Amino acid sequence: MSGATVRVEVAADSLFGPENMPYGVFAPPGGEFRVGVRLADSVLDLAVLLDDPVFARGELNSFLAQGPSRWRAVRDRLRELAETPLPTDAVHDLDSVRTVLPVQIGDYVDFYASIDHASNLGRLFRPDSEPLLPNWRHLPVGYHGRAGTIVVSGTSVIRPSGQRRIGTAPPEFGPSQRLDIEAELGFVVGAPSRQGEPVGVEAFAEHVFGVALVNDWSARDIQAWEYQPLGPFLGKSFATSLSAWITPLEALAHARVPLPDQDPVPLPYLHGTDDAGLDIDLTVAWNGEVVTRPPYARMYWSPAQMLAHLTANGASIRTGDLYASGTISGPEPDQRGSFIELSWGGAEPVVVGDDSRTFLADGDEVTITATAPGTAGRPIGLGEVRGRILAAHNT
Ligand code: CA
Repeated sequence: MSGATVRVEVAADSLFGPENMPYGVFAPPGGEFRVGVRLADSVLDLAVLLDDPVFARGELNSFLAQGPSRWRAVRDRLRELAETPLPTDAVHDLDSVRTVLPVQIGDYVDFYASIDHASNLGRLFRPDSEPLLPNWRHLPVGYHGRAGTIVVSGTSVIRPSGQRRIGTAPPEFGPSQRLDIEAELGFVVGAPSRQGEPVGVEAFAEHVFGVALVNDWSARDIQAWEYQPLGPFLGKSFATSLSAWITPLEALAHARVPLPDQDPVPLPYLHGTDDAGLDIDLTVAWNGEVVTRPPYARMYWSPAQMLAHLTANGASIRTGDLYASGTISGPEPDQRGSFIELSWGGAEPVVVGDDSRTFLADGDEVTITATAPGTAGRPIGLGEVRGRILAAHNT
């Protein structure tokens, strides 16, 4: 280290104070990718600051695999250091760095944990039946997604093409005409489990390192034609966007809230004494215009219940696995976390600046941000997830 030091100034209203410090993987100008934390408008280089090679890598996996006591120790040390002058070569302007996917993602699961979203989609996709299918209140419904097409925030998304059927006409193949978003929260697994040994609700914090915003891009026309009877496939697998910054669970200690009433009471393996939801407020901007504010606190199933369910059969989890909540929607129209809900299946266009929209047009950009109660008496921010739609390849 050189002798020069700098103090990172944190404004009183900063969403990224020392009580937050989300983790990411970044490269300073001309440098290699390595692990850092965001502090105010700076990124701290942990390999330099902590002199530990586990952070001189282009992924967080090696650190995550070290487990919760090590995560706590590093966080405690960083919180001390954040209050002191830091070596200049460990501090970079946020605007000057490049970010990549912070984790090498293993398996990816997507749930369907919002009762308002599941009810809305039930009404739209199956208008003649009960909105919720009989299993919905008994287990967190989910599916295994495609980990290899998860991209970091800022990556453009090419409009997918696929097979769809309009009305009773024969199916055709072409660019999706009903391209949508799903505003979600993702949970990043740090410590693995053993195959054959379910992870109970109470063990959530021993395995999950942190959370990050997710946009599960969805082609509704492709989805509606293909999904029965095996569920989402090509309508979802072309791209899923993940924030570049992962907020450690510890930073959300004051965001824990009771779950909504669960009726019927879940089976014992989904029931925990200390189970909780998270009071995280999302904001979705469409071409810079805020169009909806989904409340995570309304989610029916907790993150711990989702993990308990996905391992209930003995399936193991590995460092770097990601599972997402499913679309976050609240009961109000301006709390819906997808455009198919906001536009009610395309019937009610949404005002976006000077335009109106039902689904995404080429060139549109969507940015999801979120805040939560922090541990220092002020809100903290989650890292944004942003993506722009590019025209479909010629088909
Ligand atoms: Ca989804």
